[in-house]
Amino acid sequence: MENYSMLEVAQVRNGKGIVALTNFRRGALIFEVAGKLVTGEQVWRYWETDPRLGENCFRYDDDHYIDPDGRIGQYANHSCHPNAGLVRRGRRLLMKAISPIAAGDEITHDYSTLLGADDVWKMRCNCGEADCRRVVRNIGHLPVATIRRYRRLGIIPDFIMATRRR
Ligand SMILES: [Zn+2]
Repeated sequence: MENYSMLEVAQVRNGKGIVALTNFRRGALIFEVAGKLVTGEQVWRYWETDPRLGENCFRYDDDHYIDPDGRIGQYANHSCHPNAGLVRRGRRLLMKAISPIAAGDEITHDYSTLLGADDVWKMRCNCGEADCRRVVRNIGHLPVATIRRYRRLGIIPDFIMATRRR
């Protein structure tokens, strides 16, 4: 999984993205989101200096985010109809295929699955899917049916779910 030879970073609909160089079956683990672990406070500092750094971060637990820091996760784009999602396996955060992915497809996930109800970040969406939500917000704004489907797929971590009840 540390070998990214099955992937390339290429021009996609919205800038650069991660494109499959091979087929992945549903359930396949595609890559590990690696980088440096930073605190929420550090992410706030990114917003003040270089907002793109903040946008690229992945929520890791209540108080920490992974800054991909130049690694492949930096190019992971959002879709409202994603073909992949993030799962925690022990200390690792892994991108998993939630539908069959063909060579040439961009690998996308739904940013809302890692945005706790306490995350204030939002984004105007240009994913182009028929079911596009237009604005991507935190988990508290996801339709209940979508949350159920994502939970069945295992791609919303428990600590993100817990932020909805605070
Ligand atoms: Zn969208």
